[in-house]
Amino acid sequence: MKIEDLERFEKMENEGPETLPSEERRRFLQMGLAVTGVFAGGTVLSLMSARSVHGALVGISLKDYPYKPHYCMVIRQDRCIDCELCKEACVKTNHVPDYGYRTTILERELTVGPKAKQREFMPVLCNHCNRPPCVRVCPTVATYKDKTTGIVMMDPKKCIGCKTCMAACPYNARYFNEEIRAIDKCDFCFASRLSKGMKTTACAEACPADVRIFGDLSDPTSRVYQLVHDPERVLWVLRPETGAAPNVFYTKG
Ligand code: SF4
Ligand code: SF4
Ligand code: SF4
Repeated sequence: MKIEDLERFEKMENEGPETLPSEERRRFLQMGLAVTGVFAGGTVLSLMSARSVHGALVGISLKDYPYKPHYCMVIRQDRCIDCELCKEACVKTNHVPDYGYRTTILERELTVGPKAKQREFMPVLCNHCNRPPCVRVCPTVATYKDKTTGIVMMDPKKCIGCKTCMAACPYNARYFNEEIRAIDKCDFCFASRLSKGMKTTACAEACPADVRIFGDLSDPTSRVYQLVHDPERVLWVLRPETGAAPNVFYTKG
């Protein structure tokens, strides 16, 4: 999927570093984040420190996560080489039809110098939001937030195919599956793997560049916990302004 497609979908105006106040822009550029710019309708202002990420987790204080395990994914975005092995693994594991997707890689070309261009890739999937707009609007409770893990699940038997949740999702993370006549989306591989005792998702396992790190944010020994709580690390979430409070975090390095 091209980033332009998603931008059209979201009909949002993007911002670049040039829109920041000069001091903030200098700091932003010093951090080497000029190329981050905007993805998925987020703005450079969605870049935030680890502390601010917790600000994005509305109502949830540091070390106090509502689920056990509290599943999340940290995406080390700049490592992504667009090999799409994650996408292939997801399709195979979760029987995703060719017209749908549970995850995809957004791409764009950036101008980084007078003549220099650089391509950037960003894996996206359902954010398993803490305050999921999709759940709020579903008239049949076919989509719900699992009380144990925090995973936003789908019960296809209850889905009437009204697509209200698709329209409500700020991340374009859902599609209509013609075969089952219901909405489908990422479930952090709960049905295909986690419920069978596996510890990670198919996409995270398949990634040769260790871009996708999956784990339990309520476990201080987990990699995700350590990445999210590293005070030196800049993390961001997509579209924090929606208040959906995502559980997919982005970082570099
Ligand atoms: S990303 Fe979309 S589908 Fe996933 S939980 Fe958030 S609102 Fe729902
Ligand atoms: S976590 Fe599982 S379902 Fe979700 S995108 Fe990755 S492979 Fe697909
Ligand atoms: S497998 Fe990893 S490197 Fe390849 S496209 Fe997916 S996230 Fe990017």
